[in-house]
Amino acid sequence: MKTKLGLLYGGKSAEHKVSLQTALAVIKALDLEKFDIHPIYITEEGTWVNGPKLEASAESVKELAFSESTGVSAAIGSSLFPAVKDEEGQQGLDVIFPLLHGPNGEDGTVQGMLELLNLPYVGNGVLASSAGMDKVIMKNIFAQAGLPQVKYTWLIRSEWEKNKSAAYKRVEAELGYPCFVKPANLGSSVGISKCTTLEELELAFEEAFQFDRKIIIEEGVIAREIEIGVLGNDEPQCSVAGEIIPKKDFYDYKAKYEDGNTAMVIPAEITDEEYKTLSEMSEKAFKALDCSGLVRADFFLTNEGKVYINEVNTMPGFTPFSMFPLLWKHTGVEYPQLIERLVALAQERYQEKQ
Ligand code: ADP
Ligand code: MG
Ligand code: MG
Repeated sequence: MKTKLGLLYGGKSAEHKVSLQTALAVIKALDLEKFDIHPIYITEEGTWVNGPKLEASAESVKELAFSESTGVSAAIGSSLFPAVKDEEGQQGLDVIFPLLHGPNGEDGTVQGMLELLNLPYVGNGVLASSAGMDKVIMKNIFAQAGLPQVKYTWLIRSEWEKNKSAAYKRVEAELGYPCFVKPANLGSSVGISKCTTLEELELAFEEAFQFDRKIIIEEGVIAREIEIGVLGNDEPQCSVAGEIIPKKDFYDYKAKYEDGNTAMVIPAEITDEEYKTLSEMSEKAFKALDCSGLVRADFFLTNEGKVYINEVNTMPGFTPFSMFPLLWKHTGVEYPQLIERLVALAQERYQEKQ
C-alpha cells in the first residue's frame, strides 16, 4: 500500500517562496510507487487550500489553488483538508510533512494542530519546535544543559520603551561591542544587525522590535560557522560537518536566499577532535530540546579553537541544495532516502505515543 503523504507548504512567513521551492523538490524526489502525494498549500495570507495534483509545479500549485477563502478551522472540519477521515471513515492521509519555516510553521503551532488531528507528522513536536523558535528560551535550555554559548541578554519592547538609554547601557555593560541584536522569534537572519557603536545599537533595537516584542542581544564573535545535521528520534545520528562561508560581513537574509553565492564547504575542514566535540554537542542539543526527526545544529568555531553553539533549526532549509540535505548526501543518504527516512521516523514516533 502506498503511503498517503500530505505536503504542507507555502505559509504566512518570510520564507514562503523557499517553501514552494522545497515542495517542488520533494515532489520530484518522491518515489510514486511508494507515495501518494497530497499537496496542501497555505497562502501568504494564511488561507489553507488543497493543492492540485502532483504533476503541477509549485508555482502553478499556487495559481490553481482554490480562490475561495477558507480559514484553518473551516478546513479542518471539511473535506478541504483531507487529513481527517472522510464520510466513509477512510483515512485521508498517513503522514504530513510540514515544509514550512519560521513562525506559523516551524514554531509548534502547526505541530499542535497536527497533534489534535491525531496525525503522524515529520519533524519536531510542539515543545521542541516552539522552544527552538524562541532564541532566548533555546539558549536558556542550552545553558542548563551545559552547552557553551556566547554571552547573551534579552529584553521586551515595553521595558525598552520605558527607558531606552538604560537598556543600551545595560547591553554595553554586559556585552560590549561588537554585539548582535536579533528578534527572539525569527529565522533567516530577518531583523538581525551587527553593532559596533551606540548609534548602531539604537538602530538595531528599532529594527528588531519591528519584528518581535522580544529581542536577544549577543556578544559578537569572529568565528567560522560550522553546521551539523542530526537525524533520528531517541537515538539521533550526526551527519558530517559543513561550513558556511558568507561573502558578506555576516550570513544575512540576502546572502541566504537572494545572492545564492554563499559558499558551502562539505565536509568542513576541521580536525577529528573538533568534529567529535561538535557532533557530541549536536546530540546534546537535540536531546536537551527533546527533538525528533531532524535538526540542524549551528556552531561558531573561533581561531583559538573555542566552540559555541549558535542555534538549532528545527525545520532547516530543505531544498536539495540546502545545507541539511547536502550534509546527509555527503554522509551517504541521498535526498529521496532522506525524505523516506523522515517519514519513517514520523510514523515511528507516532506509534510510540499510542
Ligand atoms: P537565524 O536564526 O536568523 O539564522 P542566527 O542567530 O543564526 O539567526 O544569525 C544569523 C547570522 O548572523 C549567523 O549565521 C552569523 O553569520 C551571524 N551571527 C549571529 N550571531 C552572531 C554572533 N553572536 N557572533 C557573530 N556572528 C553572529
Ligand atoms: Mg535560525
Ligand atoms: Mg542561523
